[in-house]
Amino acid sequence: MTSTSAPLQDRFGRSVDYLRLSVTDRCDFRCVYCMAEDMTFLPRKQILSLEQLYDIASNFVQLGVKKIRLTGGEPLVRNNVMALVERLGKLEQLEQLHLTTNGAQLDKYAAPLKAAGLTGMNISIDSLQPDRFKALTRFGELSKVLAGIDAAVTVGFQRIKLNAVILKGRNDDEILDLVDFARHKNIDISFIEEMPLGQISEHDRAKSFISSEQIRDIIHARYPLTTSTETTGGPSRYHRMADSQSRIGFISPHSHNFCHLCNRVRLTVEGRLLLCLGNEHSLNLKEIIEAHPGDDGILQAALIKAMDLKPERHHFDLDGEPQIVRFMNTTGG
Ligand code: SAM
Repeated sequence: MTSTSAPLQDRFGRSVDYLRLSVTDRCDFRCVYCMAEDMTFLPRKQILSLEQLYDIASNFVQLGVKKIRLTGGEPLVRNNVMALVERLGKLEQLEQLHLTTNGAQLDKYAAPLKAAGLTGMNISIDSLQPDRFKALTRFGELSKVLAGIDAAVTVGFQRIKLNAVILKGRNDDEILDLVDFARHKNIDISFIEEMPLGQISEHDRAKSFISSEQIRDIIHARYPLTTSTETTGGPSRYHRMADSQSRIGFISPHSHNFCHLCNRVRLTVEGRLLLCLGNEHSLNLKEIIEAHPGDDGILQAALIKAMDLKPERHHFDLDGEPQIVRFMNTTGG
């Protein structure tokens, strides 16, 4: 069953045209807000093969998905991930193939990713101070990430954006440094509000919370910001500065619920299709493709039907136990 219209419609009139594909739950960092220090990762036999990831993704594209973001965990630690990028890069109906990465291996991968058809990437960076960077990521070397960002900028993608999670008392004094860094590199930057995904013990999420509004005010005092109506098809709301090409984005799952515009679904590397980042509504696609190998008709019918499971919105609450026990690395950031 192949369709050129937009068959992926949910009960609230939203069309889904964006798939976030988690290619691994493993990561070479352990960011303090993302993971516990001693994470247990999925056994290899439980995760989708690269072939299965491709099959599901290409069926989504046949159903009207125009943008795929490879994420994780750290996508670049998945063995042979380039083979998947190369195959996805050849899908003609796919308009944007993006990657979210910690940047640590980009000095090696930026050029082959571009050659394989990757069109854009988000690179996460929460601090420009080496010691602090290591403390926030538990393992990360800032110099490698900076080299990775430079490699990506040199190779040139349609779009490169930095992502920063700001925690009160940890890196909120670096908001303007991060903005200046993005301006200097002539790339965009988004600030993400911390979400209560998974149980962490390293800090109290409620105490470290800083809203997009507070961050915006700090930036606005130095660089007057004007709201932009531009969208890149994701959850960021953009602002512009008069004297720079760089845009400032805010991803505000707490303070500005963006659910009414949600056009996304996520596939975990275990093969679970998640209809919402902040809810557990899901469908086990691994079971379906393993019960009916190679049957695109059954898979596409399941994908269309799964849209009925997409909830209207998420509700995050920083007080008390997290309602969502899966960590961001399992969800696919
Ligand atoms: N390893 C890649 C990276 O570092 O970007 C991709 C996966 S990571 C889970 C994707 C994004 O999710 C990163 O920008 C990270 O900062 C963000 N993230 C992880 N846990 C989060 C949380 N609890 N709240 C908000 N953002 C989070």
